[in-house]
Amino acid sequence: MNTQLILLGAPGSGKGTQAARIVSEFGYTHISTGDLLRSEIAKESELGLRVKAIMAAGDLVSDDVVLELLKANCDIAKNLYLFDGYPRNIDQVEALHKNILSGFKSKALYFDIDLDILEKRVINRRVAPKSGEIYNLISRPSKVEGICDISGEELVHRKDDNVETVRNRLNIFKAEIEPILSYYESKGNLERIDALLAPDEIFENISKIIK
Ligand code: AMP
Repeated sequence: MNTQLILLGAPGSGKGTQAARIVSEFGYTHISTGDLLRSEIAKESELGLRVKAIMAAGDLVSDDVVLELLKANCDIAKNLYLFDGYPRNIDQVEALHKNILSGFKSKALYFDIDLDILEKRVINRRVAPKSGEIYNLISRPSKVEGICDISGEELVHRKDDNVETVRNRLNIFKAEIEPILSYYESKGNLERIDALLAPDEIFENISKIIK
């Protein structure tokens, strides 16, 4: 329980759902570069305006921008983090371990799933920004359509969860993931999670790794 965790997985692989549970059960601090970037866009900051179109297309924001955002938002000596959505390519892996995680124990969890089934999942995803709950119109609908069961807030269909953008995001993921997995495997720091199992079973498997 003194290990920084890095979640690796394609859009729709279920890592967001598990991240919320890991935070509430184990007290990790969730740090999602996607959420940090979306909040910059919502604030209409200079950085937000710069990255808006890139994110809408599903392309990756520049490595420097994301690293700066991450550095500004994490204090590694004080917290145990759950990195979500970072690193996205091998250069980001190297930057993370050199600039942020140097001297700290860390482990990568890969949400292993057949990538061909994910497109439909992501297109049907709906999220509750405040509570962090993630629904799916087909596999996990909310009780009242469009409303979060927990917080009562309105559910959002993320702008980048449309067919064209999702395809682009999945293609980028496929192109980048192998060297990332090889890196962590070579360090003996990779755990593969069967992401096709039911959410409770996945959480049980993750819990064993964390403990
Ligand atoms: P996510 O919420 O993790 O699916 O990220 C949404 C979008 O934010 C991605 O499609 C990218 O445009 C951008 N993004 C998030 N994390 C990164 C990252 N580590 N590097 C570059 N772009 C990122």
